[in-house]
Amino acid sequence: MTRFRSDKPNVANLPRSEGFRPYRELFDAEKTCLVTDLDGCLVNTLEMIQIYIWDRYQRWVPGEDIKWFNVGEAIYEHLGDLYDSTDELNKSLWDGLWNVGLWYQNARPIYAYWQALLSWQQRASIPIHFLTARPDCLHATTMGWLRRWGFSTSSGCVVLEGGSIEKIKHLQQWAETYDNLVFVDDRISTILGAARAKIPGLKLVLFAQPWNLASSRDWCQTPLILEGKPCYEHPEWDLFLHHGFDVGFRRLTEAQIAQGIIEGLE
Ligand SMILES: [Mg+2]
Repeated sequence: MTRFRSDKPNVANLPRSEGFRPYRELFDAEKTCLVTDLDGCLVNTLEMIQIYIWDRYQRWVPGEDIKWFNVGEAIYEHLGDLYDSTDELNKSLWDGLWNVGLWYQNARPIYAYWQALLSWQQRASIPIHFLTARPDCLHATTMGWLRRWGFSTSSGCVVLEGGSIEKIKHLQQWAETYDNLVFVDDRISTILGAARAKIPGLKLVLFAQPWNLASSRDWCQTPLILEGKPCYEHPEWDLFLHHGFDVGFRRLTEAQIAQGIIEGLE
C-alpha cells in the first residue's frame, strides 16, 4: 500500500497539462541548474496586487486586466478617478506596495510550481538558484519567505538581487560553471534580453502570466528580431524557435513547467 508521506511535496496531485509533451532534456535532475525568478513565478504577485488594491481602495482588478508589466498603466482604468496620471499611480504603488516588505512577506507561493521546486530541491543534484530584481532592502524578507515555504537558504542556494541587466550577468557567470542552465522568468524584456545575450547552454522559459500574453505591448518595446521579423510576429512565438532553445524561449504555463520538472526527476 502506498502511504502518503506528509514530509514530501504534493506532486502527485498537481494539475497536468493535456497533450503537453515535456522536454526530457529541459529539466535534467543530474545536470540542470534551475534558475528561477521569484515575483510572478514562485511568488503569487498577481494575487498580491489584487489584495493590495482591495485593501487600499476596496476595488477589484480582474487578473486578466494586468496586461503588461507596468502595473500602474495596466490598472489605471480602475483607479483613474483617484490619480491624475499613470506615473502618479505608479509612485503610490512603489510607496505602498513594491517597496513594502510586509506585502512580500504575506504573499503566497504559486502552488504547483512551488511543490515542483520543493521536489527539485530534495532530489536534483544542483541547488536551486533564485534570481530576483527586488530592491536590496527586501533581502531579509526574501530569505525569510523562502525558508517559511520550505526552501533551504544555505550556501548552495543562491539568492541574488539586481535589475534585468544584472540578472543576465549572473546567468552568464553561471553558464561558465553549468553546461545546462534553465532560467524561468515572467518578464518579457528580461527573457528577450537573455535570449539576445545568446548565453551558451541557457534555456529560457517564460512563465505564463496575463502580462506576457502574445497581445502584450511589452513585446514591441524591446523586440527581438528573428529571421528579419520581431519575435511577436512569428506565429510560433511561444514554441521553441528554430526547433530549440538555442536562440529562443518558450512560454509555458505553471502546470506545464511543474510537469516538466517532475518528469525530469523521474
Ligand atoms: Mg518576475
